[in-house]
Amino acid sequence: MSAEKTSQKIKYQKLISERANKLSPSGIRKFFDLLASIEGVISLGVGEPDYATPWHLCEAAVKSLEKGYTMYTSNSGIPELRELTARYIKEKYNVDYDPYGEILITVGVSEALDLTMRAILNPGDEVIMTDPHYVAYDSCVILAEGVPVMVPTYEESGFEVDAADIESRITPKTRAILIGYPSNPTGAVMPRKKLEAIADVARRRNIMVISDEIYARLNYGAEHTCFASLPGMRDNTILLGGFSKAYAMTGWRVGYALAPAEIIAAMTKIHQYTIMSAPTPAQVTAIEALKTGEADVLEMVADYDRRRKVIVKGLCDIGLSCFEPKGAFYAFPSITCTGLTSEEFSEKLLTEEKVAVVPGSAFGQCGEGYVRCCYATSLADIEEALKRIGRFVKKHRK
Ligand code: PLP
Repeated sequence: MSAEKTSQKIKYQKLISERANKLSPSGIRKFFDLLASIEGVISLGVGEPDYATPWHLCEAAVKSLEKGYTMYTSNSGIPELRELTARYIKEKYNVDYDPYGEILITVGVSEALDLTMRAILNPGDEVIMTDPHYVAYDSCVILAEGVPVMVPTYEESGFEVDAADIESRITPKTRAILIGYPSNPTGAVMPRKKLEAIADVARRRNIMVISDEIYARLNYGAEHTCFASLPGMRDNTILLGGFSKAYAMTGWRVGYALAPAEIIAAMTKIHQYTIMSAPTPAQVTAIEALKTGEADVLEMVADYDRRRKVIVKGLCDIGLSCFEPKGAFYAFPSITCTGLTSEEFSEKLLTEEKVAVVPGSAFGQCGEGYVRCCYATSLADIEEALKRIGRFVKKHRK
């Protein structure tokens, strides 16, 4: 029988699992697809550095390839990378992790999030998270057959989340609280005091906190508080981090999870059957990043800060009120003065003025009325984008 005839017999839609059907396609991807079909677009859409990975980091990978270092690594990651990660976390935040049992090198924080949820959730278990939140948070929970429970956060309170609002959502099914600060999409940073209050809830109610600290280094003025460094929190935290943002290494796909040994062991079991090990050249590059990449991080962060000031002022001048982001590389202006939904605004802005932003609704209900603008792009592009957005808002203002 020909392949064509065989395929006609299979009802593909029936083949798709309920789990996969429950996921909505990423609201960000939809815009990338649209963007790819239009020429001359300035993109403030993609959440990644416009920098290429510093060449001296790439060179380490090139040299390792020349030496034929192309095999799998240990499932947990190259020992030297785990040791350097432990040393980095110790030096920056004064928290101790054992590189031989408490650290897993992953395919970015993306894999680390997925592994975390699959390792700790049984069907129906709940994970408390903020709304708005990074698009993968609820999806990873749903894929692990868990239930995401939202805590709304608002611009008026700097998109910070209150411990009391988290505590009021705790039920017997709550397995974890997931926080991600500095925040994608809002750029919010949590003051230490507020994190301490969440730590207090976690301690009293004996609940694990998953802390996604991928943007830890992209902080403008405020010191980053590592959640695991709060008193008593090392053993109540699954700490996720990585190389994508701070070292401009999104395409290499490398990150890490740090947690008590039993949790890392469960995550490693899933990782070894599904991934085996993070890409070897990427791990080599990450080693080099930890050894010699600090100056690059500082230089890029200083540059993002310059761009941050320009975009925030520019958006406010246009009349789109913009909460001041203190971390990551996103501005999250309110677009309510146009009367458009965030999706309408983003679609029209793309087709009428060729500027790509992401509708706030992609990040949860509380994101409606906002758009996410990534300012990890050149100042020249930011300035041109602001001109175009200004023209657009003038035309569409209610
Ligand atoms: N967490 C947040 C908050 C992010 O914004 C992203 C990427 O945009 C990720 C995790 C995924 O990062 P990685 O490239 O390490 O998989």
